[in-house]
Amino acid sequence: MADSFYQKSRTDLISVLRKKGISDEQVLTAVSRVPRHEFIQSSLVHRAYEDVALPIGLGQTISQPYTVAIMTQSLRVSPGMKILEIGTGSGYQAAVLKAAGCQVFSIERHLELMTKARTTLERLGMDIACRCADGTLGWSQFAPFDGIIVTAGGPLIPDPLKKQLKTGARLVIPVGDDKVQNLHVITRLADDRFSTEVIEGFKFVPLIGKEGWSA
Ligand code: SAM
Repeated sequence: MADSFYQKSRTDLISVLRKKGISDEQVLTAVSRVPRHEFIQSSLVHRAYEDVALPIGLGQTISQPYTVAIMTQSLRVSPGMKILEIGTGSGYQAAVLKAAGCQVFSIERHLELMTKARTTLERLGMDIACRCADGTLGWSQFAPFDGIIVTAGGPLIPDPLKKQLKTGARLVIPVGDDKVQNLHVITRLADDRFSTEVIEGFKFVPLIGKEGWSA
């Protein structure tokens, strides 16, 4: 189906996100530019612009657009920022960051999902570095980052991720138990101090790894 077919649905989704409190115009523009239907399996493609998470296989999901938008807004992205994403999944969140003008690095623990996401992103002409690994350890080769976003929920804040932030950079990560998580927005201040804001009430798939839940 041509991209123009979905244009009205995408505009309606932006109205929904505005009503739910997303106010950063850069984020709304980025979401409006990314064809979410390209990241969704064909049997569910008619639901691509509903504000819901949808299955992508292997028990994982493409996040709800509101969640992607609030996390991106919390990161305070601007063009040229170097961002690390943990949990590539379908590749949709990485594409939204790219559409916001960021340089994006993304890690996924399932090779099958990472390969599929990379193929989708390449088809859309989005140059994003993807790798299959345990993202709780970060990606030291490209650190430090201007921002890190974790799209799976863990029991704690992985220390390696805090260490891979530049001073002034933010880490956005859901933390909690297996039923509910709060979004922690952590800013690295000078002298190795960190400040934290919390946004309550989210439900993510588990962050599995050395600094997350065990498999
Ligand atoms: N950002 C994704 C998107 O836009 O489709 C959402 C993906 S889903 C909510 C979270 C992803 O995190 C899953 O694909 C899962 O396999 C992955 N994940 C969980 N633990 C991980 C880890 N330690 N390292 C990398 N990826 C991990």
